[in-house]
Amino acid sequence: MWQPDCMVVHLPDPDSARGWCAEQRAAGRSIGFVPTMGGLHEGHLSLVRRAVAENEITCVSIFVNPLQFNDPGDLASYPRNLDDDIRQLQDIGCDMVFTGTFEQFFLDVESPEDIVQRDPGPGADGVEGAGRPGHFAGVATICERLFKVVGSARTYFGEKDFQQTLVVKDLARALGYPEIVVCPTVREPSGLAYSSRNVLLTDSERERAACISRALFSARHAWHQGECEAGKLREVMLRELDVDGIDVEYAELRDPHDWRPEAPAGSLVRAQALIAARIGKARLIDNLRLDRGA
Ligand code: AMP
Repeated sequence: MWQPDCMVVHLPDPDSARGWCAEQRAAGRSIGFVPTMGGLHEGHLSLVRRAVAENEITCVSIFVNPLQFNDPGDLASYPRNLDDDIRQLQDIGCDMVFTGTFEQFFLDVESPEDIVQRDPGPGADGVEGAGRPGHFAGVATICERLFKVVGSARTYFGEKDFQQTLVVKDLARALGYPEIVVCPTVREPSGLAYSSRNVLLTDSERERAACISRALFSARHAWHQGECEAGKLREVMLRELDVDGIDVEYAELRDPHDWRPEAPAGSLVRAQALIAARIGKARLIDNLRLDRGA
């Protein structure tokens, strides 16, 4: 008999996860789903807590998807700690976690080269998509597989990966499911957004990395003071990012409702500020909606 408070179930292959989710749905239970690559932190856990609160059953996937890494060094150094991840999920009431090998997720292809990747749509254009060719096609390809495993479910993503939310919303529209729920970015006390890659930072790099969120919040402050010129807002961000050891890849402004690859000229009516920077061994991204909050 089903017991809501029992141990988290770990299913080590997507096929068993598909069966488990189908059984839950057949029993009439609502499912919340949180796709992750593991290395869990408070950002991930906030998504899982929300899924637990809003659904009868919550499942989480942990799969480091090689298709979305355009840098082999980044893939090799990506933090992996499955036992610790499962323990954290158990503590907050997650019901099932599934994992799988690359081959198990792509049973229908002989080798990775045979995979026909999904077109990630217009949300992938520019900014993060420009600097990481193939990244969002890899995201869309694995998300389609993950969505097909879990089926119709409320599926939770973090605003921390803003462009990813555009890509998965497009994908969900095309497939007809799942419902996508976008959750706010969770930050360390310094303002630094939680990220699995933060463990790659030394203490001093971690302190300096806080300039990324400072830059975003300074731009938001400037917006609320009446500044809505993209170029001026960008200058505000670059001033904060001028810190030793911070290598800025981009600091950009976009209209979040009218996503275009090229930077908008002149005044904005809505603004999403987005930053990517390298610090030590880590490449960090963050973003903030400027025309919200104080
Ligand atoms: P990842 O394991 O990096 O693929 O992230 C899994 C999910 O957690 C994605 O939807 C991310 O956007 C979300 N996420 C990552 N970091 C944060 C954060 N600091 N706050 C909220 N959500 C996050």
